[in-house]
Amino acid sequence: MNTALHPLDVEKIRTEFPILQQEVHGKPLVYLDNAATSQKPIVVIDAIQDYYLKYNSNVHRGVHRLSQLASDAYEETRETIRQFLNASSLQEIIFTKGTTDGINLLAASIGRGMIKPGDEIIISAMEHHSNIVPWQMMCEDRGAKLRVIPINDDGEILFEAYEEMLNERTKLVSIVHTSNSLGTVNPLREIIDLAHSKNIPVLVDGAQAVPHTKVDVQALDCDFFVFSSHKVFGPTGVGVLYGKKEWLKKLPPYQGGGDMILHVTFEKTKFNELPYKFEAGTPNIADVIGLGVALQYVQKIGYDAISEWENDLIQYALHRLQEIEGMRFVGNAKHRAGAISFVLGDIHPHDVGTILDREGVAVRTGHHCTQPVMQRFKVPATTRASFAFYNTKEEIDQLMNALHKVIEMFA
Ligand code: PMP
Repeated sequence: MNTALHPLDVEKIRTEFPILQQEVHGKPLVYLDNAATSQKPIVVIDAIQDYYLKYNSNVHRGVHRLSQLASDAYEETRETIRQFLNASSLQEIIFTKGTTDGINLLAASIGRGMIKPGDEIIISAMEHHSNIVPWQMMCEDRGAKLRVIPINDDGEILFEAYEEMLNERTKLVSIVHTSNSLGTVNPLREIIDLAHSKNIPVLVDGAQAVPHTKVDVQALDCDFFVFSSHKVFGPTGVGVLYGKKEWLKKLPPYQGGGDMILHVTFEKTKFNELPYKFEAGTPNIADVIGLGVALQYVQKIGYDAISEWENDLIQYALHRLQEIEGMRFVGNAKHRAGAISFVLGDIHPHDVGTILDREGVAVRTGHHCTQPVMQRFKVPATTRASFAFYNTKEEIDQLMNALHKVIEMFA
């Protein structure tokens, strides 16, 4: 669904993000921390306010007018998301609290439903902690083994090592689409096809993919896909788990409670149909509605226009950053999106980040919840500039000016 404005009208878009209009420390804000969380367009903020002002009510259980309005808006968002991901059924769209919550849901459910001692789960060396720790916990619990696909010095997975790792004990491959700390975009079709040739399901962590690229879960043929609303211009506290119906039907529920049941007695409970089997308790109604509006907003701009604009920005940023003496990129993958991580000589990234902040430039410094990536590249931390479609080349020039100030101060 690409109704792209060509070319992307960045000036108009920026007026739709009120937060970007401010100054920080007397300098225009340059927000380059989009991989941590993105800013929200006014339509999203309005939609959330509208819900609380006009039809706040619980979903699914009421016959009264407000509850019907809330239930309709909530379920219409499920359809927006189905279309957004090109899932084949509404039963495949489960609302969660975010990417972390989606992966924990699956780790708990898969662990309980299908993991025996000696089974193996495969992840990669570039995963976010949220795609490491839940599997580690589950493996410890079930006596299973976590295996890790290594990466090369550019931050790309070693495909042959992956191929060798797959065997009859492998129960799942869980892999990031786009790395938050390296910017690497993984060759998902190849990864998924190879796993499927051995009947192994694949979960994709799409947290850093959906803000930058069109995702079609049927074209990818992934079995599960998770993302967070707040990274794709929606509110915090909500996310999505997509799962193929045949898998979700087989897996046991994660949490028990209201909404996920059809019938309860003290002796036995009959669980609800999909997707409700995985949605226990009152959901985050306002923010689900906000997420739907955010995704419609992104689709109106169009992923073709977004990709073109952002690729241009990233190429420009890489080119300009190379001018700086002592610049070392952490992550040089051929296919990349979203983020550029670097270290600047022996200046600690926290010092870089603090000085950039004084110049109005917001970047993230640290391990970016990927400590094994820092260990792999033998750095304690990096500075990360991460982009969204509302960023401009002028902002990258401001980043450059601020980095020159860092260098002057440490000279
Ligand atoms: N995976 C990746 C690749 C991420 O970048 C993040 C957020 N930094 C997460 C998972 C976790 O997302 P959340 O904190 O929204 O659950």
